[in-house]
Amino acid sequence: MSSPLRIVIVGGGTAGWMTAAALSAVFTSAQRQVRLIESSEIGIVGVGEATLPHIRFFNKRIGIDERELMAKTQATFKLGIDFRDWGRLGDSYIHPFGAYGSRAGGIGFHHYWLRARAAGNTTDIGEYSLPIVAARQNKFTQPSEDPRDVLSTFGYAFQFDASLYAAYLRGFSESRGVQRTDGKIVDVKLDGESGAVESVNLESGEVVTGDLFIDCSGFRGLLIEQALKTGYDEWTRWLPCDRAMAVPCENSGPLTPYTRATAREAGWQWRIPLQHRTGNGYVYSSRFISDDEAAAKLLSRLDGKALGTPRPLRFTAGRRRKTWNRNVIAIGLAGGFLEPLESTSIHLIQVAITTLIDYLTERTMTMGGQFDEKLVAAYNAWIEMEYDRVRDFLILHYHATERDDAPIWNYCRTMPIPDSLAHKMELFRARANVVTYKDGLFLEPSWLAVYFGQRVMPDGYDPRLDELATADVEAQLTQVREKVLLAAARMPDHETFLRSYCPATPPGASAGARA
Ligand SMILES: Cc1cc2nc3c(=O)[nH]c(=O)nc-3n(C[C@H](O)[C@H](O)[C@H](O)COP(=O)(O)OP(=O)(O)OC[C@H]3O[C@@H](n4cnc5c(N)ncnc54)[C@H](O)[C@@H]3O)c2cc1C
Repeated sequence: MSSPLRIVIVGGGTAGWMTAAALSAVFTSAQRQVRLIESSEIGIVGVGEATLPHIRFFNKRIGIDERELMAKTQATFKLGIDFRDWGRLGDSYIHPFGAYGSRAGGIGFHHYWLRARAAGNTTDIGEYSLPIVAARQNKFTQPSEDPRDVLSTFGYAFQFDASLYAAYLRGFSESRGVQRTDGKIVDVKLDGESGAVESVNLESGEVVTGDLFIDCSGFRGLLIEQALKTGYDEWTRWLPCDRAMAVPCENSGPLTPYTRATAREAGWQWRIPLQHRTGNGYVYSSRFISDDEAAAKLLSRLDGKALGTPRPLRFTAGRRRKTWNRNVIAIGLAGGFLEPLESTSIHLIQVAITTLIDYLTERTMTMGGQFDEKLVAAYNAWIEMEYDRVRDFLILHYHATERDDAPIWNYCRTMPIPDSLAHKMELFRARANVVTYKDGLFLEPSWLAVYFGQRVMPDGYDPRLDELATADVEAQLTQVREKVLLAAARMPDHETFLRSYCPATPPGASAGARA
């Protein structure tokens, strides 16, 4: 029998521990040997607090118990994101984790709504989406599995404490045999012939060799960039924010089952409610506001008392030219950064891990670090596609604005956008068609939420609907709206549901160990 693939993970933030947890859960110890090196002296970014519904598939695939995870990370449920002041000052819309109405006669619900609107209907499309109506009422329950039930029309994600999440995953991984070393890497040794990473050398003098190195070292990209000089495609011209200030505050008011993103004078502010506190941050462009002013603005706009002083973070939107280079795969911030407006970073980590697992076939496992170039190219193309599609969706939020009250909005409203996004917007404006792909993260309801929420209105709708009487279309809409209202009324209050489903473990209790 061949020896196990020796996998070295560099970094113990969210990316490192998610990777360690997944690899140790999916592969047997005969197939892999996983070692993770992190430096408690350097620490982690620790600000990824809002997630997307796909994380539930990740948890299921690797056997994470949702209630335990939520209790130990002070988590709350998330039904979507409340965007305020993006199209115009005073606007508000929710990007829901779920559908608007349902398709009928092969035609998307939003065409019916547009048809009714053209005949004078003034309802908001959000009234036809259960996660939106429930979120506005602070309600939550888990979805039904019965596709005939309106309660099956939504998904949910979590809002959690990122440091507790990494700690939880550490316990999970160590109980599955992942070996952890706390130490600082001071040198990376490359093989003179192949240029692949041969070892990482620790400050303690220890030399750690491996077949496959996963670079989860954060923005510094210790292996992928500092050692392998892979290169970075920068996207600041479309996504101008390059800094953030983050500060938690005391909870105040009801625990909302959604994240809030409010457009500001030089970027936007997040608000993420957890069981024990509320996470806040101001993501901004250093071209349009100073650090001191951003910190002051953030502190002046908190719902509760600040728990500390704002912590500054710097970043550059973009992605590595290759996230798999030689025997190094960069996951997390080492692979690229797309700002947290749609909570996509943890999702991109998840995509990288699950794609890697699919590529680490039995054959690869026995190749001892010699990876097939075709496989590497296919992996890189996939990750590139995922990043590019998220990028376009984010740019839409900045570009589709009527705001002219601040230089950042004037810049974003008039900036040239990628052809791929321009094409999508053109098709939508022409006949309300959303270009959908087989692969990639955001599906039709997400694009509709932002288009309608930010006043990108199409010139028409599916012409087949002209055959229908206006009264029939109205009746259909009324039926959906009533069903949604009735279902929301039956849902319990978010906080009540949380307290019975996953009351938080008191701080200090051990995280992650499985019963
Ligand atoms: C302002 C902001 C807000 C965000 N909000 C969200 C959000 O709401 N949702 C979301 O999905 N994502 C969010 N993210 C992204 C999210 O924080 C990251 O994707 C996630 O935390 C992963 O980070 P990481 O593990 O790649 O890096 P890090 O957390 O930086 O971890 C790097 C690790 O590498 C180790 N390391 C580095 N150098 C060495 C060395 N020389 N020797 C040994 N170890 C070393 C460090 O000790 C650390 O353990 C946000 C990011 C920012 C900047």
